[in-house]
Amino acid sequence: MSSPAQYPQAESVADFARNIAEVRARIDAAAERAGRSGAEVRLLPVSKTVPEERIRLAVEAGCRVLGENKVQEAKRKWRNLADLDVSWSVIGHLQTNKAKDVAAFAAEFQALDSLRAAEALDRRLQAAGRGLDVFVQVNTSAEESKYGLPPDELIGFLKRLPDYGALRVQGLMTLAVFTRDTERVRECFRLLRGLRDQARDLGLAGPGELSMGMSGDYETAVEEGATVVRVGQAIFGARPLSDAHYWPGAAPGDQAPPDPHC
Ligand SMILES: *Cc1c(COP(=O)(O)O)cnc(C)c1O
Repeated sequence: MSSPAQYPQAESVADFARNIAEVRARIDAAAERAGRSGAEVRLLPVSKTVPEERIRLAVEAGCRVLGENKVQEAKRKWRNLADLDVSWSVIGHLQTNKAKDVAAFAAEFQALDSLRAAEALDRRLQAAGRGLDVFVQVNTSAEESKYGLPPDELIGFLKRLPDYGALRVQGLMTLAVFTRDTERVRECFRLLRGLRDQARDLGLAGPGELSMGMSGDYETAVEEGATVVRVGQAIFGARPLSDAHYWPGAAPGDQAPPDPHC
């Protein structure tokens, strides 16, 4: 399981290349265990809190899309790194007053969980004359501290999304429960997959992508069908900030959990 010592800071292009290759190899092995091909799984490196100088090294090592949890931070990096061939995936909760920013720079939004956000984004996107790939976030852990739709509201929500023509639904996203109990984590991923299957049968999930799994649990997620894994610390190194900074309600000190989290 994860611990801070397992996530040393990547400080050079070679460090990044090695970390990415290691994560990639683990994804491929997990896929194989599940009778899948690793080629079905996209690795989304998550660069939140990482300073721009180090992000440049990661891009030099081959990262072309980066995930950011906070709109403000993502926007700053998008601006300051505009000389690089890299695009930005917003993976954290959206306040509607930031919809304009997301519509302006994001290549993808993975945390759609309200019609208000859908409406705000769609309006800004229509004005800008562009579309946006989105994932609908589901709260599979029933924890109040996590964003996302309750599972029983998902289908009704998806049925409303065609009203927002600029949003291109790619599939579902989740954060699993914070625990070192792998079976409980696995249950979260299975729940998301089941919901995806149900939605897909109704023609509501687009291509049916499953964005699930982070540094502490991406191998389990791949075994359970993930098509996108969002990996930060295992590529960039341990984060200085507690996860409470990202998920209201998470206890300070969750950050380098004995628990792999999430
Ligand atoms: C930070 C974050 C991740 C990556 O977490 P790591 O522990 O750094 O791998 C994944 N998804 C979301 C939504 C995040 O905010």
